[in-house]
Amino acid sequence: MVHKSSVPLHWRMQKSRYNLIGSKCVTCNTVFFPSRILCPKCRRKGKLESFQFSGKGEIISYTIIKVPPEGFEKNIPYAIAVIKLEEGTNIAGHVVGDIENIEIGKKVRAVFRKIYEDGKDGLIHYGLKWELEEGNE
Ligand SMILES: [Zn+2]
Repeated sequence: MVHKSSVPLHWRMQKSRYNLIGSKCVTCNTVFFPSRILCPKCRRKGKLESFQFSGKGEIISYTIIKVPPEGFEKNIPYAIAVIKLEEGTNIAGHVVGDIENIEIGKKVRAVFRKIYEDGKDGLIHYGLKWELEEGNE
């Protein structure tokens, strides 16, 4: 992103919330997202640190949504997928892009996209979504 100053204030303020920051147990090298305060393997011996994920992963399962909840009518069809992050933990998320071609094993990356627009005050809410990477067959 080059045009930092043109990013809406609302987005800038919210951005840290959507950064892919989880945690990592430095004792056993397991990563967690969302962040945990206790490693389930190491328990009290575990030492957790915050960990920034790369935002890259691949689809391990998905469902295509054709009948959306109220407020999401413009977005259909879309996919809800379980994504295995490159660093080795799974996360469920909303997949955007060329979802007609969604397949298990396809690569995705984290992106910030409009989730919905609040009709009353026109406030646009952004959140984390997953975009299918182009050019992977
Ligand atoms: Zn651990």
